[in-house]
Amino acid sequence: MTTSFDISSLLFLDPPEFLCRNCFCLLGSSTIHEYDFENWFSCPECKKYHYTQNDFIKITFSDLIGHSRQLASIGELMKTNLKSGQIPPMRILLSALRKAQGFVHLTTYGMSHVLLGVLKVVSQEIQVRGIVANAHPSLVKEIGDYTDENPGLELIPIPATNDYRNADQIPHQKLIIIDGLLAFTGSANFTSTAWRKAKTGYEHVDVMTDIGHIQDIHNRLFCKTWLKLNPSSEYFEDEIPF
Ligand SMILES: [Zn+2]
Repeated sequence: MTTSFDISSLLFLDPPEFLCRNCFCLLGSSTIHEYDFENWFSCPECKKYHYTQNDFIKITFSDLIGHSRQLASIGELMKTNLKSGQIPPMRILLSALRKAQGFVHLTTYGMSHVLLGVLKVVSQEIQVRGIVANAHPSLVKEIGDYTDENPGLELIPIPATNDYRNADQIPHQKLIIIDGLLAFTGSANFTSTAWRKAKTGYEHVDVMTDIGHIQDIHNRLFCKTWLKLNPSSEYFEDEIPF
């Protein structure tokens, strides 16, 4: 049977292409404007105007279509095995992280040392950034004391606390974004226990492969929080570009 696919669909392809260097907002190429032979854009989250290449991070893939197909097949594998339970979701997650070519961004309420080790390995090749709420003291120490071992890994830990007076100020999103092309959301934190529970349906994992929706959820749940919590990120207001 011949599968139908209209190549005109590719005309609507607006892949993830830039990250704001201030808040790490994810943007497609359609966000960029050209003025006086220079590219510029306004970050929708931090409002910073970007005039030069130094203001944003360009995301490049060696083969966008091939890489997208590979990540899409991992997404499908996750969906089918969440039903069948044949291949552990944890294994598929590790496989997805290993394929990242541009960046990995995540938010979690807790992180296991096993998966922190995985991020240390992944960050030897690409940039990995994450917000880790409810971080155990031993994890906070591991994140903060050995940054020279993994300069590509930037994690913002929020130490675990029993003081619940400001509980509504503690992030609780669970999100793993790979290259802006594949995302896992749901109830599973970035811990080995949670991802093992996903095998039995004790955790919910949602797989996203629509890059428009991924960009939206990334910017809404990851970069807004990053902007608030990262001391070196700034919020710009009413800056006039020209
Ligand atoms: Zn920004």
